[in-house]
Amino acid sequence: MRRFSAFAVAREAFRNHSGWGEQWASPEPRRHYDVVIVGAGGHGLATAYYLAKEHGITDVAVIEKGWLGGGNTGRNTTIIRSNYLYDESAAIYDHAVKLWEGLSEDLNYNVMFSPRGCMMLSHNVHDQQVFKRHIHANRLNGIDNEWLTPAEAKAFCPPLNIAANVRYPINGAALQRRGGTARHDAVAWGYARAASARGVHVIQNCAVTGIRRGADGAVQGVETSRGFIGAKKVGVVAAGSTSVVMEMAGVRMPLESYPLQALVSEPVKPVFPCIVMSNTVHAYISQSDKGELVIGAGTDQYPSYSQAGSLHILNHTLDAICEMFPMFRRMRMLRSWGGIVDVTPDRSPILSKTPVKGLYVNCGWGTGGFKATPGSGNVFAHTIARDEPHRINAAFSLDRFVSGRFIDEAAAAAVAH
Ligand SMILES: Cc1cc2nc3c(=O)[nH]c(=O)nc-3n(C[C@H](O)[C@H](O)[C@H](O)COP(=O)(O)OP(=O)(O)OC[C@H]3O[C@@H](n4cnc5c(N)ncnc54)[C@H](O)[C@@H]3O)c2cc1C
Repeated sequence: MRRFSAFAVAREAFRNHSGWGEQWASPEPRRHYDVVIVGAGGHGLATAYYLAKEHGITDVAVIEKGWLGGGNTGRNTTIIRSNYLYDESAAIYDHAVKLWEGLSEDLNYNVMFSPRGCMMLSHNVHDQQVFKRHIHANRLNGIDNEWLTPAEAKAFCPPLNIAANVRYPINGAALQRRGGTARHDAVAWGYARAASARGVHVIQNCAVTGIRRGADGAVQGVETSRGFIGAKKVGVVAAGSTSVVMEMAGVRMPLESYPLQALVSEPVKPVFPCIVMSNTVHAYISQSDKGELVIGAGTDQYPSYSQAGSLHILNHTLDAICEMFPMFRRMRMLRSWGGIVDVTPDRSPILSKTPVKGLYVNCGWGTGGFKATPGSGNVFAHTIARDEPHRINAAFSLDRFVSGRFIDEAAAAAVAH
């Protein structure tokens, strides 16, 4: 595979970019692999990449029912941050942020990581107490997070309306300067390319329809729309469809799937320098490199497998955006879309072995797993390769829903994009 470099880009510029070739191979599935990963989203592809890179396991297939990155990985608003309350969450999300910082170099693919700062708005005394608690907890974990006055918040984000005579006035903000965004498609493509270069098979348009278990109960492989594919180990990384896939092996998951929406405006010149989130009025916004305002909403109130959400959720989000940023009131919205997010009772992910020998699961990232992609793939690869969790994901086991040792970010944050 051709490496990207300044020299290669310059040379290709002179020959109409005809020399790049395919970025990843599209092989026919083999009859058997050491490891099969179900789902070619960012987490599944990252898992395959780190299996090959860090554990020397290259006999791996990533099987995707649609196209690579067509799930939530290509549908999210790309917010990256690690300012979570609990030690376990802070550790896994900050592991990811550290990997984001060198990811383009590691993959030799520009994922356009842009640490432009993530600011979370406080609207009342309760918000202020919660955010200050987060700031102290984060600092104890060596994670940057700082309190800003309304004037400081406006200096950091000039379009912000800090007037006192609005329905949800702003009384401060918590800022993580290392937070940012990345280009979601590029993350999927970069991992696919780098995994493929190490021998991993990325197989698109191939739905997993069953998980075969032997007489001893252990996994033997997966039934797919292109025939049976044997495997010593199977990792399920299917986001909103995880409970459906795990049911194929007879494992019932503590998950509910909900539609989650986002939308973008018409493109405009750079006006918005950072990410702003408001959990209280529930809206979050940044500006893409193309110039579109990228706006995220909340989940629908009822579980569903539809990849589109309800109109009133978008209306509510835009009400909040217009109040916080009056200068955007006359902008036109260009398009909206939805994804299916898998939500656990404590709003923390599951990266775990399962009661079935050889079956592993990585799911429950809900509304906020894009930011974790490199860290999640990295520790899940360790879990599969060694058949035991990495110390960073040990607490995110499936049996915490039996033991009651929750990591209750739901109570801590109410929302977790
Ligand atoms: C609108 C929206 C906004 C979001 N905003 C943010 C944000 O700002 N920041 C953030 O951190 N997170 C955000 N998220 C969450 C984030 O997108 C997800 O947590 C993350 O992308 C999950 O990645 P994944 O690789 O696990 O899942 P996916 O990318 O969904 O990949 C799972 C793959 O499994 C495949 N699959 C399913 N069933 C089968 C089967 N039977 N056989 C084969 N393949 C199958 C699917 O087709 C899919 O491609 C948002 C999500 C949405 C929907």
